[in-house]
Amino acid sequence: MAIRNIRVIGDDILTKKCKPVKEMTPRLLQLIDDMFETMYQENGAGLAAPQVGVLKQIVVMDVDDGNQYLLINPEIIEEEGSQTGTEGCLSVPGKHGTVTRPEKVKVKALDQDMKEFVLEGEGLLARCICHEVAHLRGELYVDLVEGELMDNSELDEEGEEEQE
Ligand code: ZN
Repeated sequence: MAIRNIRVIGDDILTKKCKPVKEMTPRLLQLIDDMFETMYQENGAGLAAPQVGVLKQIVVMDVDDGNQYLLINPEIIEEEGSQTGTEGCLSVPGKHGTVTRPEKVKVKALDQDMKEFVLEGEGLLARCICHEVAHLRGELYVDLVEGELMDNSELDEEGEEEQE
């Protein structure tokens, strides 16, 4: 496993659309391992492949609910309700902002054996799914921020942010 470099806002690759994965390969399995390792290293809740410079529809997430999530070719098939809260992104270092997302989502995706499954997420997991799936479309949360994008130094001490 290896830590990969995180691309930051201003890098064109973050605005490009990702291609679906057609078949699993040893190289992609390595990428997925590296994405998990990089996400944990950076204390992130999620990471999308374009954030490490790969234009493939692959997302990893860990929102501290005891699961590690891998989504390949994810497609959000249902959204319900709404939640407004703070969001950050490993590709927008040192910043956070207020974003409204669905409270619940259902996402269809493939696992590492390229088998289809449906994941239902609520709260932080739903927020993370929406944030990561947007990365695959070349979209960053900064375009959805209500009010100002804030510096993390303005957070109080307990306000440690989840970075996605
Ligand atoms: Zn992000």
